[in-house]
Amino acid sequence: MANSKYEYVKKFEADDRLPPSNWIVVRIDGCHFHRFSAEHAFEKPNDENALNLMNVCAVSMLEQFPEIVFAYGVSDEYSFIWRENTQFYQRRASKLLSLCVSYFTSMYVMKWKEFFSYKELKGPPYFDGRVVCYPRAKMIRDYLAWRQVDCHINNQYNTCFWMLVKSGKTQKEAQEYLKGTQAKDKNELLFQQFNINYDKLPQMFRKGSCIYREKQTKTFQCYNDHFGGRNSEGRWQCQWRHENSKQSGSGAHGHYRPQFLDPTP
Ligand code: ATP
Ligand code: ATP
Ligand code: MG
Ligand code: MG
Ligand code: MG
Ligand code: MG
Repeated sequence: MANSKYEYVKKFEADDRLPPSNWIVVRIDGCHFHRFSAEHAFEKPNDENALNLMNVCAVSMLEQFPEIVFAYGVSDEYSFIWRENTQFYQRRASKLLSLCVSYFTSMYVMKWKEFFSYKELKGPPYFDGRVVCYPRAKMIRDYLAWRQVDCHINNQYNTCFWMLVKSGKTQKEAQEYLKGTQAKDKNELLFQQFNINYDKLPQMFRKGSCIYREKQTKTFQCYNDHFGGRNSEGRWQCQWRHENSKQSGSGAHGHYRPQFLDPTP
């Protein structure tokens, strides 16, 4: 196949490697989820199952792509932050973006039934995505703060909007009613008319969701279903099993398969 007369077409490919030493953010967003959420009768303003489905997909992303260090999600969007010096796919934008979008979308479909066992998927959910590079950690923090402020503003608005609609207003009337209102007017409205203390609503709705890795040392304590037990000091000890020889033992060894179960008896 090498050096055929057709080989030249390869030269038309753009070099889309992202600049070195930049944090890479891939943000995906559901396409037409306003409609998708209506078709699948999502609870308004926040369908907890739909949010948790997004969260589970994001966890799978971190499991699949070790170079993603953090993810933040709200509504139908998720931002995935790649290690600043990742060399994954030579930092090619099109590769990172398409991997994120396709893996997430596949996960969303595969896991749908776990969250909506009683609802058939009526159409294919799909996502768009973009890549942005940030050269400083501060900018990443500002990026996340920006998304979180967006979450807060939208959620506050949507909470008012749907309470008004559920109390009998048409969507148009609710929209008119909220025109020009400030944050404190909205809090007041929720409290006075609906007896809702906005600050007491679930954090996931107000602040969005984060996925990150917990730092792990080799000498962690955990409890394994089959071999678990306390050591002589009464502390839970890591139990291990050698993958090949099926040997088992305890302590901090090189090759073990940890089980992370709740250590509290
Ligand atoms: P676009 O294709 O441009 O992204 P969109 O319809 O997806 O259009 P967004 O601005 O992304 O518009 O907003 C997503 C919409 O999806 C929200 O307005 C909301 O109606 C709906 N939605 C997403 N997640 C949930 C959820 N967990 N609960 C209820 N509604 C949701
Ligand atoms: P990469 O992630 O780098 O693309 P890959 O394993 O997908 O790695 P490709 O060069 O894309 O490698 O090759 C796709 C491989 O998938 C083929 O080598 C073949 O083994 C397998 N494959 C794909 N489609 C078929 C098919 N229809 N029937 C049998 N094998 C297939
Ligand atoms: Mg969009
Ligand atoms: Mg969308
Ligand atoms: Mg969105
Ligand atoms: Mg392939």
